[in-house]
Amino acid sequence: MSLPLCRIQNLSITYPGQTTSALTAIDLDIYAGERVAIIGESGSGKTTLARSLAGLLPDNVKSSGSVEWTMHGGQSAAHPLAGRELAYVFQDPAGSLNPVLKIGEQVAESAHRHLALSYRQALNHARELLERVQLPDPTRLMNAYPHQLSGGQKQRVAIAAAIAAQPSILIADEATSALDSVTQAAIARLLDSLVQQEGMTLIFITHDIALASSLADRIAVLQSGRLVEQGEAERVITTPRDPYTRELIAAHIDLATPPLVLEPLQ
Ligand code: ADP
Ligand code: MG
Repeated sequence: MSLPLCRIQNLSITYPGQTTSALTAIDLDIYAGERVAIIGESGSGKTTLARSLAGLLPDNVKSSGSVEWTMHGGQSAAHPLAGRELAYVFQDPAGSLNPVLKIGEQVAESAHRHLALSYRQALNHARELLERVQLPDPTRLMNAYPHQLSGGQKQRVAIAAAIAAQPSILIADEATSALDSVTQAAIARLLDSLVQQEGMTLIFITHDIALASSLADRIAVLQSGRLVEQGEAERVITTPRDPYTRELIAAHIDLATPPLVLEPLQ
């Protein structure tokens, strides 16, 4: 077995002023090129785990254990370079875009910052990226402002900006959760095709087990800051070992199958 890209060992995180830890004794290995879903309900510690992987937690958190990345050169690091090696897509697409900057400028800015491109080259690269994320009429969109776009389109722009520097790792933290279900599925397919084309490692965070199972090779389940189960996606879905995973699956099945309501005859 090759060395994991990221090795998380006995990781515990406590926010300042809190008596209970947000994460407790997490052990998880992530391999290069795989798609890992981290699932769990709200407050289970998904964002805390994602942020600690990306080195985005505030300095004042108390942490123990370790997160170690081994990038392709073989050198170890506490976390990959945000933006350059690792892209992070947030839940709220509006919040990750600047409302007063044109779409083209925002994506170009990201390309300009991380790649040694002139501003003109960066603008050209931005237009290509808008095409890559399958936005219609990219040339026109370059001059649009975020408020002129739908939620799904904004999230595509945020993804274009995130992948501008061709990072090898993409963390999507509930990146589809604020969108309607059709748009969710479209964005999930987009993420999937991007990571396949680029051979990126995807860490997909969601509270939606169905979405996780459609996208991930492996699923890790968090409950109240503990990793209660991890395994190959199909195995976790078909034969969950932990009672909490079983509950999550059962809850989803209930939600996906609305009770039959008979309409009164007219
Ligand atoms: P999730 O992403 O699964 O909803 P989070 O990682 O955001 O979960 O939160 C895990 C726990 O840590 C929760 O109990 C939450 O209230 C707490 N928490 C998250 N961020 C902070 C913070 N900045 N300060 C204090 N507690 C926090
Ligand atoms: Mg979260």
